[in-house]
Amino acid sequence: MLQQKIISVEELSKFAPVSTLNEQTFALIKQQQKIWQLARKNYEALSEVQTRSFDFGHFKIIAQHNPGRIRSSAAKIDEQSIAKRPCFLCPHNLPAEQKALNFQNKFLILVNPFPVFPLHLTISNLKHTPQRILDFFPDMLELSQELDGFTVFYNGPKCGASAPDHFHFQAGNRGFLPIENELKIMGKNHTKVLVEKPGLKILAAKNYLRKFLCIFSSDKGKITDAFRFVYSLLPARNGNEPMMNILTFYENGEWKVIVFPRVKLRPSHFYKEDENQFVVSPAAVELGGIIVMPRKEDFVSISDKIIAEIYNEITLPPSDFEHLIISVSNACR
Ligand SMILES: [Zn+2]
Repeated sequence: MLQQKIISVEELSKFAPVSTLNEQTFALIKQQQKIWQLARKNYEALSEVQTRSFDFGHFKIIAQHNPGRIRSSAAKIDEQSIAKRPCFLCPHNLPAEQKALNFQNKFLILVNPFPVFPLHLTISNLKHTPQRILDFFPDMLELSQELDGFTVFYNGPKCGASAPDHFHFQAGNRGFLPIENELKIMGKNHTKVLVEKPGLKILAAKNYLRKFLCIFSSDKGKITDAFRFVYSLLPARNGNEPMMNILTFYENGEWKVIVFPRVKLRPSHFYKEDENQFVVSPAAVELGGIIVMPRKEDFVSISDKIIAEIYNEITLPPSDFEHLIISVSNACR
C-alpha cells in the first residue's frame, strides 16, 4: 500500500533533475501539479492571490488574501472533532493522485494541495503519532539540511497544526518568508546576544512585534542541545508540550532555527463578531511575516494596529520573554 504512494526516481526524472533529495522534491511538485487536478487548480489560484505589505521600518509583514486556506484557518482541532474525522495524513487516507518521497523510512514528503508558498510541502510521519517536537527535532535539522531549497517549519498541536494527532512538518521555498531575509540584517538595536561561543550563537529579537529566539550553529549536537534547553525553560501545562512554532533552514553550512514561544492558539480577534472579527489562525508562516487571510473583508481592513495586537496576544508577554532571556543567558555563561 505504502509502496504505491512512493514515486520512482525514474518517473520524477521526466520532470526535473533528480540527483539530490532537494531536486527530487522540486520534480515531485512539478509532477503533482501536472497530474493532480486539485493541486494544479490551487497552485494556479495562488499565483493570483492579492497581498498587502505593511512596513514597520526594519521589518515588514505581508497580508496574503488566500481563500483556499479557510479549511486550515478555521479548522476545528478540539479532541472530539479530531476523533470524528479520518486522519488526512495517514498514508491509507491520501488521495489516489497524491504521491510521495520517502525520507529515511520515517517521513513522507508530500505536496501540500492548499498552498501558501509557491512551493509548499507537508512532511508527515509514516505513523499516526501525536504532534510533539522534542524527539523529532533532529529530523527537522536533517530535513532542512537535505531540503536546502526550503524552510522547514513546525506548528505545535495548539499553535496552528490542523492535524495535531499526526506528527508532521511543513516546508516552503526559501526566501519567501520576510523573516529569512530580516535575519541577515538584524542589527544591535533589534537583537540581544544571549550566547556567543564557538559553534553556537543565540539571539533574542527585540522590536519585531512578536517575540522569538534565533539559534545558529553548524553543529547538530550543539543546536539540538540548545533547542532542548530552550524548550525546558518554556511554560507547559498539563503534560502538554510548551506552545511554540519553529522555522528552520540550512544556509552556508549552518542551521538557523527560529523559535516563537506562544501563549495562545488564536487572538481574540478570531472570536469577535461582525466587522471586528478577523479569521486569522497564526502559525509559523504568520510569525515568519506572512499573515494568511482567507476572507476578503479581513484582508481589506487589517491594519498595523491589528497586526500588532495579534502578535502581541499570541506570543509571550514581555515580562515572560525577559525572564526567558535572562535564564538562557545565565545558563550558558
Ligand atoms: Zn494519521
